Amino acid sequence: MTNQQLNVVSGLQLWQWRTKATQAAIAHNVPVVEVDWLLQEIAGLDRLALRLESFKGWSEMAIGLSLEELEQLWQRRLCDRLPVQYIAGVTPWRKFKLAVSSGVLIPRPETEYLIDLAVAAATNSEKALQLQQGHWVDLGTGSGAIALGLADAFSEATIHAVDCSFEALAIAKENAHNLGFVDRMRFYQGRWWEPLNLLKGQFSGMVSNPPYIPSDIVPTLQPEVVNHEPHLALDGGADGLDAIRHLIEVAPSYLKPGGIWLIEMMAGQADAVTTLLHKQGSYENIQIHSDLAGIERFAI
Ligand code: GLN
Repeated sequence: MTNQQLNVVSGLQLWQWRTKATQAAIAHNVPVVEVDWLLQEIAGLDRLALRLESFKGWSEMAIGLSLEELEQLWQRRLCDRLPVQYIAGVTPWRKFKLAVSSGVLIPRPETEYLIDLAVAAATNSEKALQLQQGHWVDLGTGSGAIALGLADAFSEATIHAVDCSFEALAIAKENAHNLGFVDRMRFYQGRWWEPLNLLKGQFSGMVSNPPYIPSDIVPTLQPEVVNHEPHLALDGGADGLDAIRHLIEVAPSYLKPGGIWLIEMMAGQADAVTTLLHKQGSYENIQIHSDLAGIERFAI
């Protein structure tokens, strides 16, 4: 969020607001670190000053919004359960600070590991150099997180990012531009592989975090997710596997021999995904990897 106007408040006023907001966070079961996160990202407060509480003694300080506006935003977090990342308009992911809006899923920490798995798979391949310098695609890119992670990891690759949402593509492009990767990236609006029809057989790797939550589970997710994040990025149909089934079916005609296929999935889907991959018949060296919580989360 940008706000050109600067508001002058005393350090004591801000410290009092922070104390009250922290108590409210505890009462509403919201992580207290989010108070300081908001003060950093929205009010422009320095992290060290917050840590040392040195701002408490400042007689005057300029912040990016008034205390009333700050309180209004905090009430949206507490009462509407609006994720703090949407309020701040940014989220950390891997080494990046990514722009996000309510038109894109907030990239999750567990998804960060997809990039390490892609790097390990490409490096361990007999065709390592070709794979690392080739074409990679992130299908359902959202904020562009995975595509940007790939652009960063494979410095000579061309990265293609596809999403059916224009709003998501605008955010992904903004992030690519901000991080300096835009020259090696291509963006397409469409469904999964569809816009890449002319590039059949050309891809070194496909990485995707598709919607994988069964439709009847979506309404039971926490209010931050179900009331604010795009269901398009979450709802994977009756058994959650609609998008994954499609990616398994179609990917072989787009990947080069020796190309890498890599997705994120939900707890409990590993057996079904492995069976689908075997059944399709073109996949070799199928592996399941767990996330840091020990949940089988990735298929490659
Ligand atoms: N991991 C996300 C969540 O827990 C779901 C993302 C997805 O469906 N790809 O909300």
